[in-house]
Amino acid sequence: MSKSSESTAPGAEPSQKPPVAESSSTGNGGSPPAPSKAKASSRPSHTCHWPGCPKEVAPKLWGCSYHWFKLLPTLRRNILAAYVPGKERTKKPSPEYLLAAQAAQTWIKTLQS
Ligand SMILES: [Zn+2]
Repeated sequence: MSKSSESTAPGAEPSQKPPVAESSSTGNGGSPPAPSKAKASSRPSHTCHWPGCPKEVAPKLWGCSYHWFKLLPTLRRNILAAYVPGKERTKKPSPEYLLAAQAAQTWIKTLQS
């Protein structure tokens, strides 16, 4: 009895909701870009280790090719030698790699100062 009168009021609200659900389904149609964007923002981007270089590079690379080849061959060799495959997955660079990367940073600073 009162249920039928009640169903009128709640029924009015759901009837307002469908447009919202529809708009979300419209967003779903354009969803491919949106989720990929959220994914990119949630994933920390790996950029070139050269100070101030915003170039994104593969996690296994030290930096962009331009700056990589600016490094002293010795530094490059040390970094390559210390590089452990899968480091970007475990996110635990070896102390040797950190040392080599640190040496590169120090060398770059001497260039810039
Ligand atoms: Zn770079």
